Amino acid sequence: MPMSSAFKNRLTPILPDVVDTFGTPFHIYDEAGILDTCDRLNQAFSAIDGFKEFFAVKALPNPAIMSLLKSKGFGFDCSSIPELTLSRRVGSRGDDIMFTSNNTSIAQFSAALDQEGCIINLDDISLLPKLPEVPELLCFRYNPGAKRSGNSIIGNPVEAKYGVSHDQIFRAYEAAMKMGVKRFGIHTMLASNELNHQYMIDTADMLLALIQELHDHLGIRFEFINIGGGLGIPYTPDAPRFNIQGMAEGIVRSFERFTAQNQWAPKLYMESGRYITGPHGALVTTVINHKEIYRNYVGVDASMSSLMRPGMYDAYHHIHINGKDDGLPLRTVDVVGALCENNDKFAVQRELPKTEEGDLLVIHDTGAHGHAMGFNYNGHMRPKELLLRSDLTVEMIRRAETMDDYFATLNFEPKTFRG
Ligand SMILES: *Cc1c(COP(=O)(O)O)cnc(C)c1O
Repeated sequence: MPMSSAFKNRLTPILPDVVDTFGTPFHIYDEAGILDTCDRLNQAFSAIDGFKEFFAVKALPNPAIMSLLKSKGFGFDCSSIPELTLSRRVGSRGDDIMFTSNNTSIAQFSAALDQEGCIINLDDISLLPKLPEVPELLCFRYNPGAKRSGNSIIGNPVEAKYGVSHDQIFRAYEAAMKMGVKRFGIHTMLASNELNHQYMIDTADMLLALIQELHDHLGIRFEFINIGGGLGIPYTPDAPRFNIQGMAEGIVRSFERFTAQNQWAPKLYMESGRYITGPHGALVTTVINHKEIYRNYVGVDASMSSLMRPGMYDAYHHIHINGKDDGLPLRTVDVVGALCENNDKFAVQRELPKTEEGDLLVIHDTGAHGHAMGFNYNGHMRPKELLLRSDLTVEMIRRAETMDDYFATLNFEPKTFRG
C-alpha cells in the first residue's frame, strides 16, 4: 500500500488547519515515518560490522530532513557542490560524505577535497590524474557492462554513462595505488525503484567477488563495498513492499561466506534515497476547477512544477481526497495542473470519489524525487515544504518560490561584451 495508514491517520484530522495556516500546495513529510524507516534499515543490517547508509541527497535536499537522517547515523551521497555544501551545513564531514559525481569538473573535485574532504567516488580512470591532490581513501564506481542486466528505469549498464568498465577496473586500482592512495572502496549503482530484493543481493555478491579478485591481483583489502541505492517502494496499491529483511539476510550470508574465505570483510555501504523518504511525503493540493469535455478533468492548484514523475515517467502516484474515503461513488477523471503542457497530469483516467471545489487532494509518495525534481517551466513556482513532527507540530522547512526568485537571475540591464 502507498502512504502508510499511520501517516494518513496523523495527517487527516489536522490537514484542514494546516492548510488554513500555510495554504496549498505543499509537500508534507512525516518525521515519525522517516525515523522509523531509518531504524528498520539500521536494524536489518546490524549483523554487518560498519553498515552505513549514505542518503542520496538529490532525493530530498532539505537540511531539516537531512538532520533527522544524520541523527540516525546516516551519511550523505552527493554529486554536486550544492549537495556537498548542504551535507556540510548539517555537520557531516570526511567519511560521512560520499561524492559520487560523473563527468566531474576540477572545481567539483576541489570542493570535495576541501573542508576535511569526503570519500571521492571516481567515475572514470581518466579522472585519476585530474585530482587536485591524492586522497588517502579512494573509491571507483564500477560498471559491470554485459555482466548484469540493468533494471527498467536505470537502463542497461552497457548503455549507461556511469562507472569504470570491467576491463579497466584492475588498471584503475593499480594506478591509484601507484599514485599513493592507501585505502580503497568500491561502488556500483545498477537499480532504480527495484522491488526484487534478490537483485540487490546479486549486486552485493558481484562486488564481493570482484574485490576478492582485486585482492588476489593487487593485494588490496577493501575497506567497503557500496551497493548503491535503487530500493523500490510500492507506488500502486497492489505492489509488494520491498523485502528489506530478505535482502539483509541474503547479504549477511554473503558476508559470512566472504569472511570465512578471507578472514577479513569490507564494511557495507548503501545509498538509498527513495526507500528512506519516498513513502513519507505527500503533495497536498486544492481542487480549483472542474471541466467536462471528452474526458472529465479535476483542476488543482499544483502543477507538474511540484512533481515531475507522472509527466516524465508516466509514474503512478496514489491519490486520496481528504475526508472522502470510503464507499462513495467513483468517477473517472484526469487530475491536472495549469501548465500549457498536456502531460501536466497527476493522474490519468483515475477513479476517484466525486470532488468539489475546495477539496484537498493528497498525492502519495512524494518524499523522494518529488519537490527536488521541480522546475520553473512556464513560470510556475515550486511549492513549500512542511515537516509534520512526531508531536504533530508542523514546521515550514522551505517557503514557496516567489516571482522575485523567478526574476532573480534575469539581467534587465544586459551584461555586454562588444566584439
Ligand atoms: C539517484 C542516486 C541514488 C539514489 O537512488 P534511489 O532510487 O533514490 O535510491 C543513489 N546513488 C546514486 C549514485 C544516484 O545517482
